Amino acid sequence: MPAPGENLRINSARLWDSLNEMALIGPGVAGGCNRQTLTDADGEGRHLFKRWCEAAGMTMGVDTMGNMFATRPGTDPDALPVYMGSHLDTQPTGGRYDGVLGVLGALEVVRTINDMGLKTKHPIVVTNWTNEEGARFAPAMLASGVFAGIHTQDYAYNRTDPEGKRFGEELARIGWVGDEVVGARKMKAMFELHIEQGPILEAEGKSIGVVTHGQGLWWLEITLTGKDAHTGSTPMAMRVNAGLGMARITERVHQIAMSHQPNAVGAVGQVFVHPNSRNVIPGKVVFTVDIRSPEQAKLDAMRAEVERAAHAVAAELGLGCSIEPVGHFDPVTFDPELVGIVRASAEKLGYSHMDIVSGAGHDACWINRVAPTTMVMCPCVDGLSHNEAEEISPEWAAAGTDVLLHAVLQVAEVVE
Ligand SMILES: [Zn+2]
Repeated sequence: MPAPGENLRINSARLWDSLNEMALIGPGVAGGCNRQTLTDADGEGRHLFKRWCEAAGMTMGVDTMGNMFATRPGTDPDALPVYMGSHLDTQPTGGRYDGVLGVLGALEVVRTINDMGLKTKHPIVVTNWTNEEGARFAPAMLASGVFAGIHTQDYAYNRTDPEGKRFGEELARIGWVGDEVVGARKMKAMFELHIEQGPILEAEGKSIGVVTHGQGLWWLEITLTGKDAHTGSTPMAMRVNAGLGMARITERVHQIAMSHQPNAVGAVGQVFVHPNSRNVIPGKVVFTVDIRSPEQAKLDAMRAEVERAAHAVAAELGLGCSIEPVGHFDPVTFDPELVGIVRASAEKLGYSHMDIVSGAGHDACWINRVAPTTMVMCPCVDGLSHNEAEEISPEWAAAGTDVLLHAVLQVAEVVE
C-alpha cells in the first residue's frame, strides 16, 4: 500500500479536547498548569493518559523510572518500534502545551491511524518521559537521561525536592514504579513534537519547525575578587572594583556570541554582588555565563574566548579571577534521515516550514544518544513558555501533529 496521501489529517477537535481535559488536572492559578512531576496531580494525569491509551487499543508498559510506553502492535513482531512522545509534567507556573502537546499529539496520531484502519510493519509506541522539567527534582530531562545512560538510576532516585523528599520515594508514593529495566527498549526512531518555546516560527510566519540541531551549552561560574571599599571616600585610582569587572565581562560575553552568528547565544544570567550595599564598592562578584551553540567547535571556541576575556579584564583591573564550569551539554545533531522525513512531510501537507535549532533541552536530545531521533516544532504565541499564559492555536497544534503522523507512518511502514 502506498504511503497515505496529503489528505490524511489528524482529528484537530479531538486533539484540542484532550489538551483541554488534561489541563484540568493540576490547574495553575492563571489558566495554565501546575502538574509538577511525581505529585498527586502527575499521578492523576498519568492515569488519564493510560486510560486514553488503552481505549485506543494500546498496551501500557512502565519502567522503573516511571517512563510510560503505550504500544500499538505492528505486523512484524521482530521489527523495532517507532517511538513518539514528550512529557506530561509541567513547571510550577507552567503552560498547557509544553510537553503535553508531544504526548497527546502522539496519542492523536494513533487514534487517527486506528480510525483509518491502517496497519504498520513496525509497532508504534507513545511515550511520557518522567520529570522532563526538573523544576521539582533537578536536573531536567532526568528520566530520559537515565534511559540514555547519562545518569544512573541511583543518582535519579536520590535527587531531592525543596522539601527534602526523594525522587525514588515520591515515584513509589504515587504508584508509578514500573517493572521494566530503564533503557532496555530498542528504538527504530523517536520523534518528539514540541512547542518552540521561542519567537522565531511565529515571527517568520511558519507553521512547522524542522529541528536539525539542539544547542549545546556551557555554564561558567566566574568569581571576581577585589576589595570592599567606601564608594565616597576611596579615590578612583585606588579602587579594585569587582562589579566593574563583571560589567565588562558581561559586555564581552555579548560581543563573543554576536561574533559567532548564526545561532550562537550568550548572556550573564545570575549575579551575586558582595556585599551588595548601596555605598560599598563590590569586593566580590560571583556570576554565571551561559553560552550556547549547535556546533561543538563554536561552543568550545566561545568558552575559550570568554575565559580569555575574563582573565584579561581581571588583570587590567587588578582583580582575582577564577572560572569554574558548572553545567554542560554537548550540541545535538538530530538524525539527518528523520529530519528529511519531517521536512518532506511538512512539504507534502502544504505547511510552511523552516529549519530551526532547539534552544532548550528536550528528552529527544538525550534519546538521540541511543536511537535516531528528531523533533517537530510548532509556534507558540510571542515565544512565551514556562508561563501560565503560554498559548498556541488549534491550527498550529494540528499542523504539527499532522506532520508527526505522516513522518511516523513513513518510518513505521504502512502495510497491506
Ligand atoms: Zn518541554
